[in-house]
Amino acid sequence: MRVLIVGAGVIGTSIAYHLAARGAGVVVLERHAIACAASGKSGGFLARDWCDGTPLMALARRSFALHAELAALLEGDWGYRQMTTYAGRVGRSPALTLAAGPRWISPDVAIAGQIGSTATTAQVNPAAFTAGMMRAAEARGAEVLLGEAQGLLYCAGDVVGALFDGDALEADAVVIAMGPWSMLAAKWLPLPPVFGLKGHSLVFQTGATIPAEALFLEYVEPDGSMLSPEIFPRADGTTYVCGISSESFLPIDPGFVAPDDGAIGRLKLLCDRMSPVLASAPVLASQACFRPVTADGLPLIGAVPGARGAYVATGHGVWGILNAPATGEAMAELILDGVARSVDLSPFDPARLAALDPDRVSVTRRLRG
Ligand SMILES: Cc1cc2nc3c(=O)[nH]c(=O)nc-3n(C[C@H](O)[C@H](O)[C@H](O)COP(=O)(O)OP(=O)(O)OC[C@H]3O[C@@H](n4cnc5c(N)ncnc54)[C@H](O)[C@@H]3O)c2cc1C
Repeated sequence: MRVLIVGAGVIGTSIAYHLAARGAGVVVLERHAIACAASGKSGGFLARDWCDGTPLMALARRSFALHAELAALLEGDWGYRQMTTYAGRVGRSPALTLAAGPRWISPDVAIAGQIGSTATTAQVNPAAFTAGMMRAAEARGAEVLLGEAQGLLYCAGDVVGALFDGDALEADAVVIAMGPWSMLAAKWLPLPPVFGLKGHSLVFQTGATIPAEALFLEYVEPDGSMLSPEIFPRADGTTYVCGISSESFLPIDPGFVAPDDGAIGRLKLLCDRMSPVLASAPVLASQACFRPVTADGLPLIGAVPGARGAYVATGHGVWGILNAPATGEAMAELILDGVARSVDLSPFDPARLAALDPDRVSVTRRLRG
């Protein structure tokens, strides 16, 4: 069986790995570069049980276990490690009970308590993980083609391939894994809407000074805006911080995503206040990206109703890096066996949400922002 996957983010490459590992022929189509969007610019934080009590529980628990298995099985160089995780706030409050916490933060940060242990929280470097999944897929016969998917090929109502940089590529199945740009595929297929929510981040060169301790903090800016900074020191001696979101428009071209005016400056000021280590560390990256979200907050994972041969896997929101491995495993089962056995995909069935009318999806070209 030959499968085309559109999008080389963490979801597309994870599906590619699991399909290739089972012997399918896989071609991944990517408009810019592997992990060029959110999959290369996210925190890479993983939690075993933070989705418990929601429809994501089984997917998240299976994924958390698979992350550990994949790192060992493939001897992954993507910085997988277990972490201790704390919550707190910037700006001390006398009412807050102080718990023991990291020593590398400023005295201005109050730690309220530990919210994850090395058994329940972990991390990967998401760009390296995404590239590692693609490398493992390629070692099993998959290939990546760089260029733009521009539409689908149909035969008697079935999807039989994709239009790629003007060429017709035939396949038995096509998977839409274009992250927030999956919205554009609603012109090609009956898909529910997918939106993009923007987040900004900084990556610092902090060396070996910060141990494997993740922080989830709260901060109220002088104008009353509530921020929720997250700090993830990584195994490679860098530290990732995110915490400023916005509802800016998604550019049609993933290559044009750029930070909002002033957002990076606000985040840097906050970092200076949160930790003297961050205040003095060189900044390696100042960036923004869009996480894909759906109308009900759950991902779309499954066959596209009314278009045999077409599948979709997107809308993973804040948990795309966590949930990629089990999404890949279950999608490979669905495509090759007709049913996903490792995880019940029914809560994520695209048919639960009304599809857009393809004729009414308008695509406006924007040059920047
Ligand atoms: C600030 C921030 C922090 C985050 N932190 C975490 C975290 O700590 N843990 C976690 O689990 N998740 C986190 N996430 C969420 C996670 O990053 C996303 O859910 C995930 O990366 C989405 O992956 P994706 O493969 O669906 O999409 P993307 O990474 O957006 O990939 C889609 C790909 O499709 C390509 N594409 C688009 N159009 C076309 C086309 N026409 N032809 C070919 N290719 C095309 C794009 O170039 C892109 O490479 C975070 C997100 C943000 C924004």
